[in-house]
Amino acid sequence: HVKHPDFQRNPAFGKISNRDIDFFKTILAPTNIVHEVDYESSNILQYNTDWFNLYRGSSSLCLFPTTTSQVSQILKYCNKQRLAVVPQGGNTGVSGGAIPVFDEIIVNTSKMNKIRHFDAVSGAAIVDCGVVLETLDQFLEPRGYTVPLDLGAKGSCQIGGNVSTNAGGLRLMRYGNLHGNVLGLEVVLPDGTILENLSTLRKDNTGYDLKQLFIGAEGTLGLVTGVSFLTPRRPKAVNVAMIGLNSFEDVQKAFVMAKEDLSEILSAFEFWDHDSVGVVKSQMMQDVNYPIDGEHAFYALLETQGSKQEHDQEKLDEYLARLLETGVAKDGVMAQDAKQVSSLWGWREKIPESISKSGTAMTYDVAMEVPLLYKMVEDAKRHFGEKNQLGDGKLYSNLLGFGHVGDGNLHIMANLDGFDDHGQEAMDEFVFSWAMRNKGSITAEHGVGVSKVNYMNRAKSPAQLTLMRTLKNAIDPNGIMNPYKVIPNRT
Ligand code: FAD
Repeated sequence: HVKHPDFQRNPAFGKISNRDIDFFKTILAPTNIVHEVDYESSNILQYNTDWFNLYRGSSSLCLFPTTTSQVSQILKYCNKQRLAVVPQGGNTGVSGGAIPVFDEIIVNTSKMNKIRHFDAVSGAAIVDCGVVLETLDQFLEPRGYTVPLDLGAKGSCQIGGNVSTNAGGLRLMRYGNLHGNVLGLEVVLPDGTILENLSTLRKDNTGYDLKQLFIGAEGTLGLVTGVSFLTPRRPKAVNVAMIGLNSFEDVQKAFVMAKEDLSEILSAFEFWDHDSVGVVKSQMMQDVNYPIDGEHAFYALLETQGSKQEHDQEKLDEYLARLLETGVAKDGVMAQDAKQVSSLWGWREKIPESISKSGTAMTYDVAMEVPLLYKMVEDAKRHFGEKNQLGDGKLYSNLLGFGHVGDGNLHIMANLDGFDDHGQEAMDEFVFSWAMRNKGSITAEHGVGVSKVNYMNRAKSPAQLTLMRTLKNAIDPNGIMNPYKVIPNRT
């Protein structure tokens, strides 16, 4: 199943000609140009297809610049020729944002991967946009620092993509989001102008904070080529526990108690439901025993990061004892070493990948008040259970919820196989309407891309949309940067 977004190609955009290819050959090495007239040919198909295989573009051209100056020359030319462009990082985004909708030129940043500067006193790091998140963390590890961002796709996603989606991830509750951690950006604007502000200052109030515009802009305003951000000290002690609970009420109680008992060392509080366990076991971890005995309706993983192992361990022991004594948790286990820490995290991190392996997955990332988080999943099960034409209960094993309790962020995922032909639309409408009705956000961290653009007219007020369009038109008057994404057509 490949979803083609239902848009019309903008006829104002040019189509790639041999003359254009000749121009790109003057600025890029031949190995950094992939041009295939047949966009389904294997060389270019991977850049036209997203991680979950939900979206497919039909671009015949993918460019791999290696420097900011090359990006500038590419965009300047495309702007002049009215050639539409889609920036692409690690292509792990889950909103279809990095995939061309039609024949937009893909500008892939994987070959811009230098770590430019690191200051071991302040922890400020300046990197090219194409540095892979995990690579940067490996660079920082021996220097005693870490990246203030961690997510399941860390082995593939790139810093430029993280910034452009304002990625949240597993430790947002500890380190805050990228609007706070990014100190400066280098961005190439659609007309080729290089907006250089790779500041390493923590404080700078000289006028508008322009970088904020590009954080989470999903490539619609310019191409981020460099990022400067603050990296925190790597914690000396990391402890992880997993607990089994009877209800989402108990998940919330355990969360409040964790804030009380673990306060400054609490770094993550994640939860998932029983169905999530089933899908991970069946797809990825068949031969591994589940760390907790018995079956539980919910599971939570909590992590502490601090500077003294014994101190943190003692706090966590006391917290777990209190959870069990009060009956809030039914069972619990604590990692004994680094291997067990990553193994416990594995059960949480493998959920999205597992459901996508089990078939065509629909994935959502809504935000709302914590008490409402799981109600959406229960309502969805009821709603689709009643409507399920198959009547075989299959849907129940295909619809699951997990997420970042600490950030009020739920991932509800479903496998399309349990739905009829209109499953995707029905699920979109259910999830987005539910979130909006309950004063939530239709996207907490994945971004709008193409997947939610049709809902923007309902999710944002006319005044907000007007200002977004004004900004877009001012920066990108020809609309070449990642068209059809984020900002909806006027209704
Ligand atoms: P891409 O997918 O390549 O691009 C994403 C968007 O940014 C596109 O609109 C693209 O046009 C634009 N873009 C990319 N690079 C640039 C650039 N240099 N300049 C301008 N625009 C650019 N997200 C979370 O927030 N939290 C999670 O916990 C999380 N977990 C994930 C787990 C898995 C298994 C997967 C597959 C994804 C997950 N994500 C999560 C989604 C997340 O948004 C991406 O993984 C990541 O932030 C995107 O980085 P990327 O380099 O792959 O960007």
